[in-house]
Parts: sequence; C-alpha cells; structure tokens
Amino acid sequence: MTVEATKETRGFETEAKQLLHLMIHSLYSNKEIFLRELISNASDAADKLRFEALHNGELYENDPELKITVEFDKEAKTVTISDNGIGMNRDEVIENLGTIAKSGTSQFLSTLSGDQKKDSQLIGQFGVGFYSSFIVAERVEVFSRRAGAPASEGVHWESQGEADYSIESVDKESRGTTVVLHLQAEQEEFADGYRLRSVIKKYSDHISIPVVMLKDEPPAPPAAESEAEGDAEKTEEAPKAPEFESINSATALWTRSRSDVSDEEYKEFYKHISHDFAEPMKWSHNRVEGKLDYTSLLFIPSKAPFDLYNRDTSRGLKLYIQRTYIMDDAEQFLPMYLRFIKGVIDSNDLSLNVSREILQKDPNIDSIRSALTKRVLDTLDKLAKKDGDAYLGFWKEFGEVMKEGPAEDFSNKEKIAGLFRFASTQEATDEQKQSLDGYLERMKDEQEKIFYVVADNYNTAKSSPHLEVFRKKGIEVLLLSDRVDEWLMGHLTEYKGKSFQDVSKGELDLGKLDTEEEKKEQEKVEEEFKDFAERMKESLKDDVAEVRITHRLTDSPACLVIAADDMGAQMRRLMEQAGQAMPETMPTIEINPNHPLLQKMDQEQDEDRFSDLAKVVFDQASLAEGGSLKDPAAYVHRLNKLLLELSS
Ligand code: ADP
Repeated sequence: MTVEATKETRGFETEAKQLLHLMIHSLYSNKEIFLRELISNASDAADKLRFEALHNGELYENDPELKITVEFDKEAKTVTISDNGIGMNRDEVIENLGTIAKSGTSQFLSTLSGDQKKDSQLIGQFGVGFYSSFIVAERVEVFSRRAGAPASEGVHWESQGEADYSIESVDKESRGTTVVLHLQAEQEEFADGYRLRSVIKKYSDHISIPVVMLKDEPPAPPAAESEAEGDAEKTEEAPKAPEFESINSATALWTRSRSDVSDEEYKEFYKHISHDFAEPMKWSHNRVEGKLDYTSLLFIPSKAPFDLYNRDTSRGLKLYIQRTYIMDDAEQFLPMYLRFIKGVIDSNDLSLNVSREILQKDPNIDSIRSALTKRVLDTLDKLAKKDGDAYLGFWKEFGEVMKEGPAEDFSNKEKIAGLFRFASTQEATDEQKQSLDGYLERMKDEQEKIFYVVADNYNTAKSSPHLEVFRKKGIEVLLLSDRVDEWLMGHLTEYKGKSFQDVSKGELDLGKLDTEEEKKEQEKVEEEFKDFAERMKESLKDDVAEVRITHRLTDSPACLVIAADDMGAQMRRLMEQAGQAMPETMPTIEINPNHPLLQKMDQEQDEDRFSDLAKVVFDQASLAEGGSLKDPAAYVHRLNKLLLELSS
C-alpha cells in the first residue's frame, strides 16, 4: 500500500470523544468483546455486499467467497481482522468512524452518572461497536476500500483513541476492511492463537460466514527411522501456501433447528444483531411453512434501550430473504408497541427486490405481522405464567410501551390487557403488581366493575380519599400512576366482560355492593344535610359545579369528583404541559357530613368564617389529589387566620 500525499488529521466529534473516553474506562472488565464487535461489523459488511451484489454482480470482483480473517503477530503485538465485505470510501470512513450518527447520543451521554459500573451497563445498552477496539489497542489502523472502487481509492485511517485521527488515501488491492489493533502492553495476551480461537468460538460462532485463522502448524513429528526397503528418497518440501481453517460453524443460526442451538449461541446471536451487551430475557425461534414460508427468531431484551421513546429510534427486525440480508429495521413486521423486540425474519416468499414501500403494501406482510405479534404476546404470557418475578422485571422495563398496545392494536386488546400489571390496594408496595386476571379472581361476588384510581405517582394514588369507602368494604382498587395511564384507560374500557370504573369520576355507584339499608341511610343523610350543602355551595360558587353529600369518605372531610365524561386531572395536566389550552371545568365537591370539621362548620354562625372554612376544605381536597392550588397564598393566609382564631 503506497501512501499518497493526502494525509490529514481530524479531531473526533465531541460526542465520539466522550464516548471513547468512557468506554475505555468503563468496559475494561470485559475486554475480549472487542473481537465480537469487530467480527460483527465485518459480518454486517459482508451482508451489505451480498445485498448490493444482487443488482450488481461485479461488486464481487471475482472473489465471491465472503469471509472474515483473524490474524495475529506476537512480535509486533498486533491483532488484525479483515473482511472482504462492502468496505468504505473516504467519506464513509469519516462519517462512520469519526462521528456517532446515532440520534439521541447527547441525551444518552447526559444520563451517564460518572459511576463506572453503572455507566458501563448503559454504554452496553447504547452499543459501542468499533470503538471497543480501544479497550485493548493503543493504536488502531483501518484500511478500507469500497467494493467496485479502483484499488487507488483505498483509505487508511489511524488513531490512538482519545483526541484525533488521521486519514489518507492508499492503494488497496483487496476490497473490504482491515482493522489492525496495536495492542496495549498489558493486552498482549490477545496476540495468541489459542486465546483468539476461544474468544471467537465463544462469541462469534453464529456468524453466518466463515471466520478463518491460519491453521496451527502441528509440531513436526519426530523423524521416524525409516525401515522401508531401499533408500527412502529425501524430497525437498516446497514451501506450502498458508492454510486457513474456519473457526466458527458459519451457518445462519436461525436456519438451524432449535434443538441444535444452545442457549449460549442464542444469546451471542442476540448481542450481534441488537448491539446490546446485556443478555436477552427470552426468545422465540420458529419456522412457519404453508401458505407463507418464513423463519422468525424474536428476542425480548432484558433492558429497555435508552432511546425507547425517541421517535426516530430504530426499530423492527432484520429482514433476510432466502438467507440474503435485505435490510435492518424492517418495522413492518411488528406493531409500534412491540418496537423493543429484536430479531430476524427470513422469508422464502418475498422477492429479493423488495423495498420498504413494497413491504408496506404487501398483504402477506400483514399476516406475518399478526402472526409475529401473537407470537410475542404468547411468549410474554408464558413467561408471566412460568416466572412471575422475571415477568415483573420485563414489565418494569417495557410496561409503559406495552400500554400503547390497546390503542394501536384493537384486535389483540384483551390479550395485551392480560399482560398488564398494576399496583393495587391489595398490596403494600408499588413493587408487587397485580394482573387483571388476579383482580377478577379476587372480586366480590356482587362486584360488577374493575375499580381504579389515577394519580401522578403511587403515593398520591394510594392515599387518595376516593379509596376510603373501598377500604372500608374491602374492595380492591387498582392504583395507576404512569403518565400514560389515563390515556390508556380511555382505550381500555373493559376486560373479560367487566368494565372499568375510575373511582374519582362521576357519582359513585357501587351497585349491589351497597346494601338496601346503606342506601336508605345515605338518602336520609343527604336529606338532613341538604341545607348545609347549599350553604357550602354559596361559599364555593366560583370553584365548584356542585356540592354533594358523599358516602365514599370515612376519614377525609371532602374530595373532588369530576364528571363521568370529563378529562381527568392527570390527562389535563399532560395536555397543559404540552401547551394545549384546556377549557375551564368545575369539579364537584363531595363532602363527608360525619367528619368533625364539617359538623363544626354546621354550627358556625359567622358567615365569613364559614366561607373561609369551606374554601380551606376545598383547597385541601385539591391538594390531597396531588393537584395545585389556583391561589396558594390565599390558602395559607386563610388557614393561618383560622389557626390564630383557634388559639386565641
Ligand atoms: P454500529 O455497528 O453499531 O453501527 P460501529 O461503531 O461499530 O457502530 O460502526 C459504525 C459504522 O461503521 C457501521 O455502521 C458501518 O457502517 C461502518 N463499519 C464498521 N466496520 C465496518 C466494516 N468492517 N466494513 C464496513 N463498514 C464498517
């Protein structure tokens, strides 16, 4: 390779620099993964070449046997990984190795804590790929030439990590990419055939093209005494061409039968396709034959990626057609709420010329999509039944995304809802979440509805005054506090024939859960306190639509209730945060006439003081729901006035 006078030195993009630094300092406990990452890139490059060559066979340049070669030099302390894949031109090298093109990178970097252990996990989720070379190398050289380009368009890139890299044009006869790692002094152990072989076996066995190394020369056998008759003729041995051998099994993993693939292999394959460092939680590998013929291998990650909520984050499966790689992120095969699923689909029916546009229109894709969706939901259901704790781990990571399901995927609404987990008054903590099926089982005989309350956080939900009557009667209420919950419940109106009821909305109707005597008693109390309610309404005429005598409260003096078809407080706050002007609606206040404070108010002759008390009761009811006051200073002022009167 001859060097031309086009060498230039460039600084890494700031974000790349930060990431590099972090990686070098966080991933040292698992150094050998650099090889997995580089082989993974080389394999992707081979996939891309094969894909482009579908339209332009010349790209193979008479060298159609795709492979990855790993070599080492103990003296020079180098490890070299070469591929004859698609290669990169100068611009691509700058773009791919000098910057981090991933969306949300700076957002990701800002989530890092400085705690190396935690950060190394996060970096794993982010995926580090090529930069992991610098965990073991003090200097990295990359030689690359794009398939189809003349030898003179080779590129030589070199860097010592940290700050900058140089790039120059060189001649490169062979197409593809060669990465030369100049090992750090402490990492020389990697310049060793045995070590490299075992790392390749461990992490890269599933790579679908051969990963080859020079054959280890067996030690020469001791020269045997020749007992043959006559003179054994001594022949001069011609120097042999170096012989390479394949280290991996080199068949596409998903084409093998399930029983032939070990868990370890599945896990490593997952890491290869997902760029995730953590192991998958579960996978499902299936071959479908019949009208449509395809193989799918779907993985449920154990950790949510940092950019799960980025709109333009990559999602979807890796699409192969008859074992030829076609595209990444084929998002047509799964609905949006399952965007965290990683995997491969290999179809035998689609044309190799397929494009995203064609995929969108192909009715066969719809049926594959619905089959894959069911498969994922069934896999989750099985996991939930078999290992509830592991399933809760899944729910913690992906529950919020799953909650997008009922709105997006009407036909699977009930199946999805069956996978939901909610906090509940049944349990003492937020951690122990309940399924809707569990709720149905515990329902009282006379109970017709599934009750829930929505608040901004678990504690507010749990101490909501609306729950008092339910506690008294021992009726379970689900405690919802995810941002999306109120929106979700708008789409999830019933489950297995039971409708949902927000306990803070509309008039409380416990149906058969109230006895006849209780109903009579309520009517009596309502009659008794009719005047009191009217007096209160007069004081609160600017704040509430109605004052009602309640039977939902046992301990609190009052609570706020919104009309059955009005937007709840959580949704309203969300809309307001999003800059939507919301029409003013007045809540109804429900008061508990058995509460000593209200009984005292009933005796109050001074109308001003009555009005102050009424307003304080109203403001407190807002506070108890986690709401904010329209005029907090007035509340403090009133309360202090009352306190002072009390002590004087
Ligand atoms: P990732 O693989 O997650 O995209 P990397 O940092 O490992 O991130 O690589 C960045 C990009 O560099 C790749 O997406 C690919 O376009 C390019 N690249 C890396 N290695 C190779 C290779 N051996 N051949 C061709 N392109 C490569």
